[in-house]
Amino acid sequence: MLKRIEQIAPLTEEMLSKLAKLVSCRSERGEAVPGCPFGEGPAEALAAALEMGREMGFRTVNLDNYCGYIEMGEGPDIIGIAAHLDVVPAGEGWNTDPYTMTRVDDTVYGRGVSDDKGAAVASLYAMKLVRDSGIALNKRVRLLLGCNEESGSLCMKHYKEVEEPITIGFTPDGYFPGIYGEKGGCGMALYSKNTRILDMEGGFVFNAVCPHCTTRIPAGSVSVSRLREVLASTPLKDFSVTEEDDVITIEAQGVSAHASTPLLGVNAASYTMYALQKAGFRDDFVDFYMDRIGTHCDGEGLGLKVSDAYGDLTLNNGIVMRRDGTFCCTIDIRYPITYTPDQIRELAAPYLEDERGRVEIGHVGDPLFYDPESALVQGLYRAYREVTGDQTLKPMVIGGGTYAKSLPGIIAFGCEFPDADNHIHDANELMTIQDFQTQTAVYVQAILNLLEV
Ligand SMILES: [Zn+2]
Repeated sequence: MLKRIEQIAPLTEEMLSKLAKLVSCRSERGEAVPGCPFGEGPAEALAAALEMGREMGFRTVNLDNYCGYIEMGEGPDIIGIAAHLDVVPAGEGWNTDPYTMTRVDDTVYGRGVSDDKGAAVASLYAMKLVRDSGIALNKRVRLLLGCNEESGSLCMKHYKEVEEPITIGFTPDGYFPGIYGEKGGCGMALYSKNTRILDMEGGFVFNAVCPHCTTRIPAGSVSVSRLREVLASTPLKDFSVTEEDDVITIEAQGVSAHASTPLLGVNAASYTMYALQKAGFRDDFVDFYMDRIGTHCDGEGLGLKVSDAYGDLTLNNGIVMRRDGTFCCTIDIRYPITYTPDQIRELAAPYLEDERGRVEIGHVGDPLFYDPESALVQGLYRAYREVTGDQTLKPMVIGGGTYAKSLPGIIAFGCEFPDADNHIHDANELMTIQDFQTQTAVYVQAILNLLEV
């Protein structure tokens, strides 16, 4: 039986109603307005969460609507728990309203129930349970609530500028039983030069697999029946090809997934390009896209098919859009932790431009690595084992991009269990109530273990 469940079970309804409140705040990134650098939605979610903390008797601070924190305890050291309240846009394909948390049996659905509003509520109640146990707090415990994790983590940049550093801690925004390494991230953009494509639009964020794509090409430029035949041979979930007013329109429906695990998705833009090429549509943009990005997500077309003992490089196209007559495709790369930004730039250099198109390298971030035997990694891993009894799962390396890269001293720890699929960044994001309770129990133990470090 789950350790501490007898304390958490009576609190569960209360926790769920707090989570429902946070889910109802539409906290995807919006236009900045005075006092709200990421728009009003994230600020609304932050205000709601800080109010919950205040009501529970904790100290709360709002740092200019970039982020805020809820704190307890005394002492110079700070155990940081860095959760975030912003969400990725809902996207399509939901069976329920993404901003109304909906319970079906023992599962709740809604944008953010897992990533990361659920984790924020679980962490808040873990603090409550530690405090109410009466144990002496020789450190402060600070729940950071960021408003910009999904689009740049500027919230944590602001935190570091205006607040005390975290001594040790975790971000409940990855997987159990802890992540000691995160691959390096690299953003690129691919641009067309010459193309017969009239219009192409797909995807909604750079860090998710492009789930849907609409493409228009001139009638007569390809055999419609051959195009349908090729599209039918792809893993696309659905597609249609229609011809009207001298224009062929292709609608492709793929499967979204996080950019760090692109093979779990089906890229609607990539398979549209694949089908166009295979059906005989002769086009520089299509050929350049297929050579550089293609459908296999391993970076081979950019000279980047590399891997190390901790994993392979991955590549994802998230958005295709038209700007000033040129098509632009975003590329999100996660490279192995033993490579450096300079190596990535050098490997890709020969592939960046030819007469058909060009690729621009944007930001190349460093990978992250903590000693798996360190007190931090081991203290958290032990908390997971002590609560769940699971001895098989071990701390791991992921495609990353969590707050651990923005805040020194922390690693990602939960909130997703590796065998769960909570549809993070996808339609019908979910969390089981059992996982919600288990997270909370593990975070109680994690705080206790870190108090001893
Ligand atoms: Zn997250």
